[in-house]
Formats: sequence, C-alpha cells, structure tokens
Amino acid sequence: MNQELDSDLLHRTTGIDPNMPVSMSNQNIPDIQNIPNVNEISINTGQNTQPVQNTQPVQNTQPVQNTQPVQNISFNDIINVMDNNLNDCVVDLLFNNINVNLRTMTVGEYKNLAKMVEMFEENIKNDDVKNDKVEEIKLERDLSITLDNILNRCITNNVPSGELYLFDWIYVLLHLRMISRGEKTNFSIQCGGEECSEVIKISIEEIIKNIKDNSDNITKLPLHEIEIKDNMFVYSMPLTRNDIKYIQNRCIENPDLSQKVLSYAISLKGFRVENNINAMTYEQSETLIDKLTSSQFEDFQKKFDEVYKTFFANFGKFTCKKCGKENNIDLSDFILFLLDS
Ligand SMILES: [Zn+2]
Repeated sequence: MNQELDSDLLHRTTGIDPNMPVSMSNQNIPDIQNIPNVNEISINTGQNTQPVQNTQPVQNTQPVQNTQPVQNISFNDIINVMDNNLNDCVVDLLFNNINVNLRTMTVGEYKNLAKMVEMFEENIKNDDVKNDKVEEIKLERDLSITLDNILNRCITNNVPSGELYLFDWIYVLLHLRMISRGEKTNFSIQCGGEECSEVIKISIEEIIKNIKDNSDNITKLPLHEIEIKDNMFVYSMPLTRNDIKYIQNRCIENPDLSQKVLSYAISLKGFRVENNINAMTYEQSETLIDKLTSSQFEDFQKKFDEVYKTFFANFGKFTCKKCGKENNIDLSDFILFLLDS
C-alpha cells in the first residue's frame, strides 16, 4: 500500500500526518474537466419565460383587479430573494454542543472553488513544489483558507469556521458538499486490493450517516491528560482550524519546524492543578512539549493519534465485489469531495 504524503490532503491541509488506518492507494482523482462548466448548468436565462400559448379560448381574460399598487421590484430584490432561498441544513457538531446552519453554495461559489482546487492540483504536482516543503505548505494553507472563506459565507448563524475542531470542519464541509451538489455526491474510491482496479462509488450521505451513527465512539476520547506530578496535569484537545492555520504559518516562517511535532505541541491546551484550569498560549505549548519526558511524550502521542484514527475509521468500510477485500473509506484526500465524480 503506497500512501504518499503528498497525495494526502489531510496532511496537506492540516499538517497532520495521521498514519491513516487503511488507505486506498491510487485513488482516482476525478478529472477536473468533469466539473460542469457554469455554462452547462441549466440556468434560466429569461428566454423561456414566455408562457406557453394556450390555444383554448381563455375564459377569464380579465385580470383580477389588484387594489394594491404594483410594487416596483428591483434587481437587488430578486438577488435577495435568491440568496434567501438557498437550501439549508442544520449540522449537529460532533465535538461541540452547538448547531451550524448551513446554506448551499451558489453556482458562482462552486465555480470559484473548483477553479482554486484545479490550480492547487496543478501546482502541487509541480516538481519545484515537491522539493520545497515551504511552497507545499503555502499551497495547502491557501486552499484551506479558501475553504474557510466559503464556509464563513455559507454558515448563516455566525459560527466562525476557525473555531471548529478539525473533525467538525471536515464534517461541515461534507454537509456543504452534500447540499450543494444534489445527487452528484458520489465519491469514487479505488479498491486497495492487490492488482484490483475496482472503483466503488459511495455517497457522501452514507458517509455522513456512518459518522453520525458512530459519533459516541468518535467523541469519547478528545481530552487527554498527562500527569506531570501528583495532581498536576497538562491536557490536550483536538486541533481547531485556527490552530492548524497557526501551525501552517509557523512552518512557513520557520522551515526547520516539523508540522507533525508542532501539531502535537499545539494540541496541548493548558494545565490543571486539582480543579484550577489554566489555558496556555501557543508559545507556552511549544515550550512545554520539549519539557516532557520521552515516556510522557510517547504516551501522549499514542492518544493523539488514536483520536485521529478513530475519527477516520468511522467514515465506513466497503467490501469489494470483485476481490472481496474489505476497505476502509479514506478521506485523507478529502479534496476529492470537492470535485464531481
Ligand atoms: Zn477489489
């Protein structure tokens, strides 16, 4: 199984190198050409608004007298109606006891996103980028900021995308994809069986259901404490999008830093002495991780990885009809969800 890091969008987008449980090698990246051009999407151009001529004599040709003055409707009114008419859904966050109200992407937003994704896919394959860690992180950062911007527009109840835990960020993006693209929400994944080329389509709806059904498993481990001394603890929490943005920026400024180690560090959020809890700044977290003993670090690293594995393991499994192999659904390249398949 050949899972290259540079094909791992989670890693790209988040700096996390989670050693995915099982992965599909050689995932089929849907051809960007398949993204419908906005011109192909049926848009009412106004040319077909003529009512069909009725050949029957119409009996009630007198318009009903309207006692109200006819309102003058401006173009802006129409746009407002369209903006408010977008389908929405309510996402129950996994790690927070709050809901996110989400509206669909418009054709224009989707088109811009598709363009960004296309550029990203092209640039990331560039040899100059492959040999330059900083350039790679910059591309990852810019794409994830694009996703943040779209989320911030589509979340209609003022929950900032930066405050979402990474898992909820992915979860909300899955919902956004589902409601924005109608029936075209299949994800093509290739069987990881040796010499098996079977491609299986799985709907995002199904994946969202798997996550929902297993949300208790997913959320049971988020907080981990490291005992420093009697009744003194350092605790870690899953990373938020803002944490990841910080990690990306730090690694761009300072190419010697390891994204993975920095991710561990930043997940250390504070310390507790009995019932007194103190939050830590990013700088303090970075200082603190170097002070851990190697056994404390190893134990914490295991727990951290476990939380990520648990999340990704609950996307679901499928059994290949051709070779019988059981595959886990790997969303590490979840950029695929932004493309049509
Ligand atoms: Zn197979």
